Amino acid sequence: MSYLAQRTLSSTSVKVAGALSTNATRLFSTTVPARDISFDLSDEQRTYQGTHYDETMEYPWPVLKKAHEVGLLNTHVPEAFGGPGLSLRECALISEELAYGCTGIQTAMEANGLAEAPLIVAGSERQNAKYLSRMIDEPLVASYAVTEPGAGSDVANIQTKAVKKGDKWILNGTKMWITNAGYANWYFVLAKTDPNERPHKALSGFIVDGDSAGLIRGKKEINMGQRCSDTRMVTFEDVEVPQENMLGSPGDGFKIAMGAFDITRPLVSAGAVGLAQRALYEATIYAKERKTMGKPIIAHQAVAFMLADMQMAVESSRNLVWKSAWAKDAGERNSFWASMAKCMAGRAAVSNANDAVQIYGGLGFNSESAVEKLYRDAKIFELYEGTSQIQRLVISRQLADLYDA
Ligand SMILES: Cc1cc2nc3c(=O)[nH]c(=O)nc-3n(C[C@H](O)[C@H](O)[C@H](O)COP(=O)(O)OP(=O)(O)OC[C@H]3O[C@@H](n4cnc5c(N)ncnc54)[C@H](O)[C@@H]3O)c2cc1C
Repeated sequence: MSYLAQRTLSSTSVKVAGALSTNATRLFSTTVPARDISFDLSDEQRTYQGTHYDETMEYPWPVLKKAHEVGLLNTHVPEAFGGPGLSLRECALISEELAYGCTGIQTAMEANGLAEAPLIVAGSERQNAKYLSRMIDEPLVASYAVTEPGAGSDVANIQTKAVKKGDKWILNGTKMWITNAGYANWYFVLAKTDPNERPHKALSGFIVDGDSAGLIRGKKEINMGQRCSDTRMVTFEDVEVPQENMLGSPGDGFKIAMGAFDITRPLVSAGAVGLAQRALYEATIYAKERKTMGKPIIAHQAVAFMLADMQMAVESSRNLVWKSAWAKDAGERNSFWASMAKCMAGRAAVSNANDAVQIYGGLGFNSESAVEKLYRDAKIFELYEGTSQIQRLVISRQLADLYDA
């Protein structure tokens, strides 16, 4: 059966009507609460669009607008602010399925969730009504601006400063590698507000309007993969931000910026699983068709075992994604699980894409093949939203408490 076959799901499953691949059928075979989500692009259309946008590096506005129209953007925004208020587990199902089509487009979509997460964690009623509701009313994108040229993993060392002047804060500094930055309607920005405080209490979070005077968007960065996703530098030159746009209190910024990852890491990880699943699918189909030494290459044990490893990588990382999402939905602190999910799923994406290219042989190295793009797109999953080393730091720090003599 072709992976392009469209499937309609049972009424007890999340309904992404008429848009799902065999991957989705596998994915949704576990019953989850019924919701009325629909996405009327077929898998074939999304595959085509993924390739088109990868080649042109064009920002996928038409896809984002369609996704907004059918309710697949901003899925974690609470119902109180007009959003679908989906559980994290439901959001993870959607992220995986979108990523199966194209992780460049999925990252552009997911970046909205990343920008919104600090508001969900710490936004006031008024801030959320203004900025989250806006995202539901119109097809807009936003950015999470934390990383700087000199500080990525070392978030506490960021140098962007905010100085209080009357009822405003004046922001100066430079952010780097900011997804959606060229098109963001607003930014979550982390800045140093008290240089005399210890690092984790020195930072505060702000919502900064995209049309603020002094906010300068850099050129689009040309990345190895996920090439339609928009990544840029953003510079703040005496940008005025009203006090009412500070999230929480001065000094809360680090906690808010990290707390957002409890929501977003399961979803980024779900994206990595989607890519790993796609690589497995493409490699298996090819291995059934390609013949050497008189038999399909899937009949060579060396190839079959690679596929078995790929299947295990998909299933194990998906289970961690679901566990991390489930823990958050259940009101538990999920950072430990989210870091494990991110680390494992990032590895699964990279290793499955690598194995898929290997199984394709020379053809896998060619841009006409189904797997070359997957190979380029995969690596970022071990880098953004905390590198795999940083995930291991989070995991290892909890082990001493977890295991007592
Ligand atoms: C395409 C893309 C999109 C991105 N989108 C965003 C975005 O929307 N918003 C945003 O704020 N940022 C974004 N980022 C930034 C991304 O999160 C950072 O690049 C990432 O966190 C790593 O930071 P760095 O690049 O400064 O690497 P560094 O922190 O300099 O790390 C370099 C290497 O050292 C390792 N390392 C660092 N510290 C330690 C340690 N303590 N222990 C062990 N190893 C360590 C790292 O794992 C890595 O391998 C994006 C980046 C890219 C490439």
